[in-house]
Amino acid sequence: MGDVNRRALFTRQGKYQARVAGAVIASRAPHSSTADVEAVPGVVFTDPEVASVGLTVREAERTGRDVEVADYEIGHLAGAVQYRPDYRGRARNLIDRDRQVVVGATFVGPGVAELLYSATVAITGEVPVERLWHAVPAFPTISEVWLRLLEARRDS
Ligand SMILES: Cc1cc2nc3c(=O)[nH]c(=O)nc-3n(C[C@H](O)[C@H](O)[C@H](O)COP(=O)(O)OP(=O)(O)OC[C@H]3O[C@@H](n4cnc5c(N)ncnc54)[C@H](O)[C@@H]3O)c2cc1C
Repeated sequence: MGDVNRRALFTRQGKYQARVAGAVIASRAPHSSTADVEAVPGVVFTDPEVASVGLTVREAERTGRDVEVADYEIGHLAGAVQYRPDYRGRARNLIDRDRQVVVGATFVGPGVAELLYSATVAITGEVPVERLWHAVPAFPTISEVWLRLLEARRDS
């Protein structure tokens, strides 16, 4: 496990593989890891931060995946203005058109790294988009971007 197998060269992925390997040894988990390819989270810790998990548009095109794309200006959210009055940022979701599940998310803006785990849960859990409407984000928070992305897709 870890860098040596060349699957995903990050500390977090090595730790993930270690958990899977440990569970396999203990015979308590499926004998394969599943989040090495489809849901590797990444953050560029710059100002603003860039956080991404799953597919980007370019990767979807390269691998022939049919996706719907939704974009939203995070700075329009009340939660963002509360976070920083001059907040500027952007969010993008990729939805698999056939399966109707989120397959990619990218966020740019101050503090967006904290949005990444919710995106990772949505992708690894293969949560149907219709169910995401029922995941109510607290107001006013930047998490409301999830709702706005659903609305942007619906209204496009
Ligand atoms: C500059 C830089 C920045 C990074 N930033 C991040 C980040 O922000 N977030 C993130 O998730 N990942 C980051 N990474 C990647 C992360 O460091 C690696 O993915 C992670 O350390 C891999 O852990 P590992 O245990 O698999 O391998 P390693 O950490 O390389 O550990 C392998 C160990 O095995 C030892 N070893 C090698 N050969 C032998 C031998 N024959 N006998 C005994 N011991 C041996 C080595 O000395 C080493 O201690 C970064 C990497 C670099 C280089």
